[in-house]
Amino acid sequence: MGLNAPNANYFCLYCNCDAASRWDMDQVWTNTGNSKCTKKLALFPAIDQNNYIPDELHLLLRISDTLMECFFNDLTKKKEFEKQIKPNIEAAFKDLGVRFEFFKSTSSKWNWTSLMGTDKKKMLEKFPVAQFITGIRGENIEVLWREFYRLYKVLRQSQLTDQEIYQFKVDAENWVRAFCRPSQGFINSSLNFGHYRKADVTPYMHVFAKHIPLFMHQLKSKGLSLRIFSTSSIEKKNHSQVRLFFGGTTMGGGNKERTVVYDIMSFENRKLFYLISNTPKEITSRNINADNKENLSHSFNDPGQ
Ligand SMILES: [Zn+2]
Repeated sequence: MGLNAPNANYFCLYCNCDAASRWDMDQVWTNTGNSKCTKKLALFPAIDQNNYIPDELHLLLRISDTLMECFFNDLTKKKEFEKQIKPNIEAAFKDLGVRFEFFKSTSSKWNWTSLMGTDKKKMLEKFPVAQFITGIRGENIEVLWREFYRLYKVLRQSQLTDQEIYQFKVDAENWVRAFCRPSQGFINSSLNFGHYRKADVTPYMHVFAKHIPLFMHQLKSKGLSLRIFSTSSIEKKNHSQVRLFFGGTTMGGGNKERTVVYDIMSFENRKLFYLISNTPKEITSRNINADNKENLSHSFNDPGQ
């Protein structure tokens, strides 16, 4: 089993599902590996197939990206988008305490702020989708957003019963079915009461409905859960290091004598040394005022923190 690109016909790391039947939730898939991808060798032959645990953070991020894209693509086509819809959407995000704006990319296509995990959760839970799409379709799409958030919270739970995992599987499959439910009897696209196209179902959605429940069972039998394998802490580390080293050192040309990797490693090494040998991370300077005999202390945080 090698690793195919997500847009390949046999896209899945865990099974032989092909892109054309990705939407079909009636098919049964287990974690047997992808034997259709013969061109490439296995990425990490030492790792057992059952130990490639999907990352819950990226399921959240990428599936919400798809929901946003589908939603905004409908709206940006409209004549009144720039004057009416755009300011209203930006205001709705502001009400949720989320910084969000649309901007035009070089190809004059509309683009928007890419949101981090916490903002995406707020959006899925509370964004008033139905205000922007009229009728039953708007209501249904809003339900789709809320239901995805509910299911995401279920898969993040550290303890689940077999019954709850089974229910998750049923609900996640029904969620994908609802996502690409065909329009019923409306051919005119302006009266499209269906949600989205089957082709809009992404590899992440397939993993969400077809493989996550299996991993939930497998991890439960070992007393583990998906959230333990979340990459959110690594992403956070990456975010702070990019800010610290790439954001900071490239100003004024940066320090080109050593590589950034060297700087990161020596910074991490120093932090570990401080931690192990209990080195204080702040300095305290004390001003002694002889007049009122009161001691004032000022703490300075280590700028590296
Ligand atoms: Zn699969």
